[in-house]
Amino acid sequence: MHQTYTYRKFPYAPPPELKESGARRHPLVIVGCGPVGLAAAIDARQHGIPVLLLDDDDTVSVGSRGLCYAKRTLDVLDRLGCGDPVVAKGVGWDVGRTFFRNDEVFNFNLRPQPGFKRPGMVNLQQYYLEDYMVQRALDAGVQIRWKHKVVAVQPHDDHAGLQVETPDGSYAVEADWLIVCDGARSPIRTMLGLDIDGKIFQDRFLIADVVMKADFPAERWFWFDPPFHPNQSVLLHREADDVYRIDFQLGWDVDPEEEKKPEKVIPRIKAMLGDDREFTLEWVSVYTFQCRRMNDFRHGRCLFAGDAAHQVSPFGARGANSGVQDADNLVWKLKLVMDGRAPLHLLDTYTAERGFAADENILNSTRSTDFITPKGAVSKTFRNAVLELSRELPFARKLVNSGRLSVPSFLTASPLNTPDCERFEGDMVPGAPMDDAPVERDGAPAWLIDQTGGRFQALLFCDDPSELDDAMQWQLLGLAEAAIPVEPLVVARRAGKCSLKCVVDSEGLAFKRYDARPGTLYLLRPDQHVAARWREPEVSRIVAAVARATANFDQE
Ligand SMILES: Cc1cc2nc3c(=O)[nH]c(=O)nc-3n(C[C@H](O)[C@H](O)[C@H](O)COP(=O)(O)OP(=O)(O)OC[C@H]3O[C@@H](n4cnc5c(N)ncnc54)[C@H](O)[C@@H]3O)c2cc1C
Repeated sequence: MHQTYTYRKFPYAPPPELKESGARRHPLVIVGCGPVGLAAAIDARQHGIPVLLLDDDDTVSVGSRGLCYAKRTLDVLDRLGCGDPVVAKGVGWDVGRTFFRNDEVFNFNLRPQPGFKRPGMVNLQQYYLEDYMVQRALDAGVQIRWKHKVVAVQPHDDHAGLQVETPDGSYAVEADWLIVCDGARSPIRTMLGLDIDGKIFQDRFLIADVVMKADFPAERWFWFDPPFHPNQSVLLHREADDVYRIDFQLGWDVDPEEEKKPEKVIPRIKAMLGDDREFTLEWVSVYTFQCRRMNDFRHGRCLFAGDAAHQVSPFGARGANSGVQDADNLVWKLKLVMDGRAPLHLLDTYTAERGFAADENILNSTRSTDFITPKGAVSKTFRNAVLELSRELPFARKLVNSGRLSVPSFLTASPLNTPDCERFEGDMVPGAPMDDAPVERDGAPAWLIDQTGGRFQALLFCDDPSELDDAMQWQLLGLAEAAIPVEPLVVARRAGKCSLKCVVDSEGLAFKRYDARPGTLYLLRPDQHVAARWREPEVSRIVAAVARATANFDQE
């Protein structure tokens, strides 16, 4: 097989604890150096928290796993300082096409409007994603220990005790807080005797990653019952380095070991691509999947995130995407709790908000899976009838489900939101992930989303910043000095001078997307979700909304 990526090996170092008696206490230990543990570690460092990150391995994700990273995840990666290499190396795309037999029956565009920094999706092999995230984590000062395997966990009221095994012996560590990102099998979940509920799907898929020069557009193509693989489905994605990822549905009754043999795989690919196209195999594997989640993502001082907390089928690309968004939701809350600026209860809203997102992901993933792999003859007849009708009838196209792709959750039911008391149109409701827009900053093109994140912010919309009321400016500057600071950001229709940081809504899209008028103010959370908004803001209301968004309910 041809390998396009040379796996990075990270150095193991014996820990100082091996020469000491007793356990060292760390404010935050994260277990698992996958995309989710890395995202949490980088975010924690950006909040100034010292981080010890433990992984039992010494390299990045081996083989073919995650490949599609959604716009919201790219926004989070940008905030974490590692979006650029991912987008530069990956293959950006917006359009997906679904075929039934030989005909296209449906297509979608993930980003129908222009004016966003990032594409709807970027395809990139998971090993590259992790490679870039490891580099960023090291640059941010995360202490990563490779080949350090957690073998025991003891929960306590005010910390978690860990036993860690290394090639040179084992040692004990104490963590004020433990973020568990040790993957779908989550040894720590098992060590703590915690359950994860859901269902296993009885189907198998063959992954064949092939390296070839081809002129397929940067789009997602999905076939139901194609002539080259009858009665099953096939998915094609283009990735970096001229690698194409092909997923062939196999059914449940096949022998996975037999299916991985080149003499079985190569004819399948040739049937799809034709005999003349040259390609080499980079990776072959067979996967099955499950949709399940833990009831609660917080158990005392142990916080579960990513695959350790919830799993979905790969259709829809919701695994790493949702895990990175878990980290995005968790770390700012943890920082406030660690600093004593928010009650412990704030961390329970992590389960509430990300549990809601996990349920949405599981529902969507299960629906896609049921459509792609119908159970029984009646379901399959119905499925094929929908596909037949969708050639001609728009209503049937809406029922075609080849994997609804990862979108961020709108946390509209969150107790952290302040409900609207005025009328607004559009999507930017309390709980929504913020929309991006092109802006100008100091006369240069920029993106609204890049001006935000990592702290509470007040986005004040106005025509001309030089006409802003002085009292309002002073009050907003005062909020920036509060115990939980709120940084003001003016979004103006035209350039002008004022004492606050200011961007110009160069194409009018920020005003449009936020249904803003001069005077409208949006309160954004550190994870770039809308917490509250007003047409006629008052400082007392902003203070109350920050108290609510940080679960300081008695201070509202
Ligand atoms: C075929 C396939 C396709 C996929 N496609 C996509 C996609 O397109 N988009 C997407 O978003 N997701 C996709 N996923 C899902 C994605 O791969 C996972 O959701 C993602 O890797 C989860 O990240 P994680 O950090 O939670 O866990 P992992 O990536 O599994 O990382 C867990 C880490 O914990 C370490 N660890 C485990 N036990 C211990 C221990 N005891 N001590 C120390 N370290 C330990 C492991 O070595 C590992 O490094 C796909 C998955 C598959 C299988």
